Amino acid sequence: MATTLNVEQVRSVLSAACQAIYDAREALSDADRQIGDGDHGVGMGRGFKAAREAVNEADLGTVGDAFKAVGSAVMRTSGGASGAVFGTMFRGPAKVLSSDTLDGEGLAAALEESAAQVQLRGKAKPGDKTMLDALVPAGVAAREAAAAGGDVTAVAKAAAAAAHEGCEATINMKATVGKSKSLGERSIGYRDPGAISVTILLDTIAQEIEAA
Ligand code: ADP
Ligand code: MG
Repeated sequence: MATTLNVEQVRSVLSAACQAIYDAREALSDADRQIGDGDHGVGMGRGFKAAREAVNEADLGTVGDAFKAVGSAVMRTSGGASGAVFGTMFRGPAKVLSSDTLDGEGLAAALEESAAQVQLRGKAKPGDKTMLDALVPAGVAAREAAAAGGDVTAVAKAAAAAAHEGCEATINMKATVGKSKSLGERSIGYRDPGAISVTILLDTIAQEIEAA
């Protein structure tokens, strides 16, 4: 159970997270078919396949370089809302990850910065029924775990658990941004597809860090 990761461990953790999204692409499109246009898994599958290749091959000086490789590839290849949103999720925190190791404090700072950058770029907020309803609580929980002295495994597990809870909470929310907005009340009763993606990403990251 890792307390701190080196850059090669971060590379393999992120690579596994990319693979998990690619593997879940059909379920993600099914979720988007309920309240959107049914393409979430297509864009995410394409983007994170490219991201996996990019992070596997990137020259890594810092942990941020690995996050940047993932985010840039997603931004370049995903298309749709998810390209900008999930590209920013990974590229946004690259600048706060300037070390060649990742500890609990670093992961908490990265998740907070990630949530802040996605909000800045996408102009949505918690409660709008988007991926932010999983990512923002994940950042808050990560910070709490780090403040309590948690190592990188403890912080990752706290973030994943909060993302899960946040994703479940989107079931009862009415969409107020993006393609689901036009459904109004009819968007209630389904999980937000992007929130499901955040949960898969953070779950895989936590599992891989724990196993590292
Ligand atoms: P599109 O909406 O272009 O078809 P996708 O289906 O790939 O793109 O992605 C939809 C997901 O993107 C939503 O489930 C939501 O979580 C996320 N999303 C959309 N707009 C925003 C936004 N402004 N901020 C954060 N997330 C957003
Ligand atoms: Mg869509």
